[in-house]
Amino acid sequence: MDKIKMTTPLVEMDGDEMTRILWKMIKDELLLPFIDLKTEYYDLGLECRNETNDQVTVDSANATMKYGVAVKCATITPNAARMTEYNLKEMWKSPNGTIRAMLDGTVFRAPICVKGIDPCVKNWKKPITLARHAYGDVYKNTEMKIDGPGKAEIVFTADDGSVTRATIHNFDGPGIVQGVHNMDRSIDSFARACFNFALDTKQDLWFATKDTISKKYDHNFKDIFQEIFDKEYKEKFDAAGITYFYTLIDDAVARVMKAEGGFIWACKNYDGDVMSDMVSSAFGSLAMMTSVLVSPSGVYEYEAAHGTVQRHYYKHLKGEETSTNSVATIFAWTGALRKRGELDNIPALCTFADKLEKATLSTIEGGKMTKDLALITSLENVTTLNSADFIKEIRKNLEASL
Ligand code: NAP
Ligand code: MG
Repeated sequence: MDKIKMTTPLVEMDGDEMTRILWKMIKDELLLPFIDLKTEYYDLGLECRNETNDQVTVDSANATMKYGVAVKCATITPNAARMTEYNLKEMWKSPNGTIRAMLDGTVFRAPICVKGIDPCVKNWKKPITLARHAYGDVYKNTEMKIDGPGKAEIVFTADDGSVTRATIHNFDGPGIVQGVHNMDRSIDSFARACFNFALDTKQDLWFATKDTISKKYDHNFKDIFQEIFDKEYKEKFDAAGITYFYTLIDDAVARVMKAEGGFIWACKNYDGDVMSDMVSSAFGSLAMMTSVLVSPSGVYEYEAAHGTVQRHYYKHLKGEETSTNSVATIFAWTGALRKRGELDNIPALCTFADKLEKATLSTIEGGKMTKDLALITSLENVTTLNSADFIKEIRKNLEASL
């Protein structure tokens, strides 16, 4: 069989620890034998980030903007312990944060559904994709403790010197205040990323805020979404047979629990932070969750939602056997390859991505899986495989389907 040819390179961002081990296994077993893989390689492993003063992260984000599609391995976000472990020059910032800021993106997270791993919510039949606005609100706040009686105000000084003020509260004793902000520009790109993603994946889009209480702040989100939808997306949604639905956040939460799934739920920053953890754990496992960063200019970066699985890596270093789930990392590759195939009009690449995903899911449905899934599956008589054997088993199924 001839290997599938690619025209434009994928931006490949390698990473750290156990996921770096899986990354190589996936390439060797599941990609390189079948695809003439074209990538522009960036090593985002912590050692290389440290050597290049994190320039490699910036370069990889620039390459993503140039080529349009990237696939990223999980990476270490340094903390105090990592400073000594890796003898770092600086506590480098989270690569995801750096890349997100440069691409100005929205993060979409979706569970990978498979027979035998059942959601806790029994009526959830299809995945629920969470779209989280990743700028502002309480994540970029200014807070103050109030020690005693006095007046707290919001003061805005325009560039022309004119001043607008509003009273927050007349304190008669100690308390607290907090100032938060967002920007129309950022909300605008959040809205567009959500509308484009809904069209791309042919799923309904839900959006909710607390606009009845927050009559200016949250209402602004609602208005910007509605205006962009009416002007630029309504006809496209009609043509695709999908809908945009706005409701109050409390109503959304109640409806999500009763729904079947199969839609995108767009959330403000805090709601998205909290709800994505709830939705992902209710669907089964962080190792069965894809994550893609989509920029308003239509640039895509695919990754797994979990981290570098440090505990397993230390076992691996001691020569002990690991059973680390590679599904989310495989799906990061298939997502990126499929998108490259769509953009470059290489149907064989899209078909390959579909078949690799099918082979992965049918391996699990056939009762062969890693330990994390074996512990929660409803299937009986399952075989628990180590990290490498699970990938080899997927390869057998893939070869049979090609
Ligand atoms: P983690 O790597 O997601 O792992 C936490 C635990 O979840 C693991 O110890 C393991 O549980 C389970 N787990 C996660 N992924 C798994 C998989 N694929 N297969 C099987 N089990 C899996 O989170 P962490 O240990 O808190 O963080 C480790 C490093 O990852 C940190 O340095 C952090 O900065 C980084 N991180 C990176 C990203 C990213 O690049 N997107 C995201 C989050 C964290 P058991 O040990 O019980 O088996
Ligand atoms: Mg959270």
